[in-house]
Amino acid sequence: MTPALPPADVGRVLTAPADTAPFLLDWRKRWHGRARAVVQPSTVEEVSALVRWCAQHRVPLVPQGGNTGLTGGSVPDASGEAVVLSLARMNRVRAIDTVNDTVTVEAGAVLAAVQAAAREVGRLFPLSLAAEGSCTIGGNLSTNAGGTAVLRYGNARELCLGLEVVLPDGEIWHGLRGLRKDNTGYDLRDLFVGAEGTLGVITAATMKLYPLPVAQVTAIAAVASPHAALELLGLARGMLGPSLTGFEMMSDLCLSLVARHFPDCPKPFADAHPYCVLLESSDPESEAHATARFDALMERAVEHGLVADAVVAQSIAQSRRFWALRENISEAQAAEGKNVKHDISVPISSIGEFVERTDALLAERFPGIRMVVFGHLGDGNLHYNVSPPEGVDGDAFLARQDAINAVVHDAVAASSGSISAEHGIGVLRREELVRYKSPVELALMRRIKQAFDPLGIMNPGKLVP
Ligand code: FAD
Ligand code: ZN
Repeated sequence: MTPALPPADVGRVLTAPADTAPFLLDWRKRWHGRARAVVQPSTVEEVSALVRWCAQHRVPLVPQGGNTGLTGGSVPDASGEAVVLSLARMNRVRAIDTVNDTVTVEAGAVLAAVQAAAREVGRLFPLSLAAEGSCTIGGNLSTNAGGTAVLRYGNARELCLGLEVVLPDGEIWHGLRGLRKDNTGYDLRDLFVGAEGTLGVITAATMKLYPLPVAQVTAIAAVASPHAALELLGLARGMLGPSLTGFEMMSDLCLSLVARHFPDCPKPFADAHPYCVLLESSDPESEAHATARFDALMERAVEHGLVADAVVAQSIAQSRRFWALRENISEAQAAEGKNVKHDISVPISSIGEFVERTDALLAERFPGIRMVVFGHLGDGNLHYNVSPPEGVDGDAFLARQDAINAVVHDAVAASSGSISAEHGIGVLRREELVRYKSPVELALMRRIKQAFDPLGIMNPGKLVP
């Protein structure tokens, strides 16, 4: 007989419905599960004891960080069998080394807190995304999060040097190395990054730090098409070099939705333009230097006919307002009603053609459908979201989401792209993976899962089809 609850040496155990409820519903309120308990260990030893107990009794385990994931990976299924392992109490900064430029933090540390800890010692922790006030380093690594600075600093994977992991039998892997070079065999660390909690529980990580830029300045530019935005990207890279740290594109509809649902964030230009680009430069010299370089870039871009209008932020407050336009898109689209999300990537060179072709295909199949297209153009990654035609019921629209997904993801496949650029697979995309990954890739994934987790207790039903 499986005891209903784990023993006392695993940390705080929550069972009252009022206490467990927030851990059982995902951020988008799409997946609502049940669990025998939510457990909050505060040390790696407690995590290990919990996992051992789960292995002994074949109890499924769902690791959870900030529960901001967008694919349903962080919540249990409806069976009520699972334990949710919340890492919220494992949030200490264990060490900062300003010579090695690394920070070692526990997995439950909130991303914004890690950024602040780095800033306190004069360093930059560059991972940045709209959920940074809630998401955790463990979740960021488990989904290999991207965000708005990938162009310059890479994904969570590129920022990670070492991990501490509790394996599915409860054993602890002490892999917190701070090495930039280590060629001693298979890269075990990289297997856990992006594994969505299916191979083990990340309990701590050693992450890279960078010099803190002296000034960060943003500019916003109006362009006629994704093609023009790409040409602007090329020009900006040439003129700003590694100072260009962000390049985000937003369609006019995105900005209209933000203006509608966030009255404090009006559209940046009086005229409507098909797309806007938000650029960020991180300058090693000064704000004045950054602004002057942006002015020169925008002048050249206007001369070349790439940019119809542009504003370079004149203050930190104005920069924040520009970022708010970008960061409020998801919530504005949610406030507008139900929608279908796609988090796709294609080679950067194909992105203009991809948008044109997919827009046309969807408009033909689903007349009146509204494309809410935005994202990290500099990484070839767009959030190609779609909302129902004005006035159409959200549930009726969602009933057609499989057909919509097929149009978008077949177009992605035709462009040699990926159906999940940064949000992961979770339960949302698990079945689609079968259609878009090769049999060889799927077989290798299943063999890795089997090798690490032969009992199948680590986040079952997620990621691996
Ligand atoms: P959770 O949601 O708790 O978990 C995510 C997955 O990781 C689950 O499968 C879970 O089981 C697993 N997991 C969590 N912690 C651990 C651990 N310690 N060990 C093993 N497995 C674990 N993502 C981007 O990449 N770029 C963006 O720009 C971006 N913007 C976002 C904006 C908003 C407003 C929101 C709500 C989300 C956004 N995301 C973005 C989604 C992103 O995946 C998450 O925000 C973040 O990376 C997940 O961290 P979390 O701590 O909330 O993880
Ligand atoms: Zn994103």
